[in-house]
Amino acid sequence: PFTNTVARGTRPAMQLIYDLRACGVEREIAIPQVAVIGDQSSGKSSVLEAICSVPLPRGAGLTTRCAIELRLSDVHPDDLHLPPDTPRPERDMFWVGSIFTSVDSGQVPIEKKDDLEQAIAAKAKSLTNSRHAGGFSNERVIVQIAASGSPNLTIIDLPGIIRTKTFGQNSNAIREVTNLIRGYISQERTVMLVVVPATQDVATIEALEWAARSDPSGERTIGVITKPDLIDDGAEEEVGVVLSNKRKPLKLGYVMVKNRSQREVEEHVSVREARKSEAEFFAQHRVFSTMSKDLFGVEKLVRKLTDVLVSRVYNALPGMREEISSKLETTRKELDELGRGAGETSSEASMTLMRIVFEYNNLLTESTVGRYVDKRL
Ligand code: GDP
Ligand code: MG
Repeated sequence: PFTNTVARGTRPAMQLIYDLRACGVEREIAIPQVAVIGDQSSGKSSVLEAICSVPLPRGAGLTTRCAIELRLSDVHPDDLHLPPDTPRPERDMFWVGSIFTSVDSGQVPIEKKDDLEQAIAAKAKSLTNSRHAGGFSNERVIVQIAASGSPNLTIIDLPGIIRTKTFGQNSNAIREVTNLIRGYISQERTVMLVVVPATQDVATIEALEWAARSDPSGERTIGVITKPDLIDDGAEEEVGVVLSNKRKPLKLGYVMVKNRSQREVEEHVSVREARKSEAEFFAQHRVFSTMSKDLFGVEKLVRKLTDVLVSRVYNALPGMREEISSKLETTRKELDELGRGAGETSSEASMTLMRIVFEYNNLLTESTVGRYVDKRL
């Protein structure tokens, strides 16, 4: 479905990021990524599932209690290096997924797209179950998806911002979730997708304030307006003003998307059908149909997001190279301080042992002599 949305030149940048992750570099230095923030039920998970064309755990009452990282990559059937006589899979048909967490690194393959929702929910539960206080976990569920036509993006679904002690949540929960979200958005290399429901006054969107605090210059904040189908009669013009970046301006602007409603989820409207109904909705809308096409739909959002992320990856490269070099240097120094190894062969090792015994003996003699001399003085 995103065949033409991934701009040329995105693959080298994203490939580099995947390779760096594969070497475990992210434990040492920050890697460019996208995080989704917003109030509970603002539509964060819905936006994400639209981006990756896969149903995700979502909906009323189902709140994410840990970060869920989706690593998406495009695979062209030609990249599969199939033997010449095997039929090429349809471009839309190819899909490979796996799941693991930041505590257990064993990747479990996911057979079908439709199994993913359950698998994520189970993994998330395993991370948060053992915790009592607020019930949130700083560990992540990591999902890898390679699919033809998929955008090349890594996106993190975060728990919703909690403002009041609703849903039986205590102050521990508020503190934990605040720290968890801040940990991600304070990262210079994280692009923020701020989800703003069209049904809410933009002045009261907490997530926009949080984003502005961590990114005062607005280099890495994109607004996503959801639920355009639920706007009150007559309020459409005002939402149009927000969307055209005139009410609460963001340097990178806003995009509006229409996701599946709770009813559509229950009626098993597919993610693909939802995209079609989104396009029809915007094309027929009294106010929105008159505005620039670039402001509407998940494909436009993906394109914008990819462009921003790729340019940030290129910008971040010199700094990342610097950080890696300095880590390397520190590690080399530490290795040097530890001294040489014992040797490869057993005779080298016994030589080393003898040398150590000899040096120890010398030290012992020296200190005995030293003490003797001290006493005499
Ligand atoms: P999250 O808590 O921010 O992750 O929000 P969810 O993605 O779980 O969405 C919360 C509820 O809003 C769900 O019932 C969704 O079906 C519904 N929803 C999300 N986006 C839209 C939209 O564009 N239109 C409509 N009608 N409902 C939406
Ligand atoms: Mg969610």
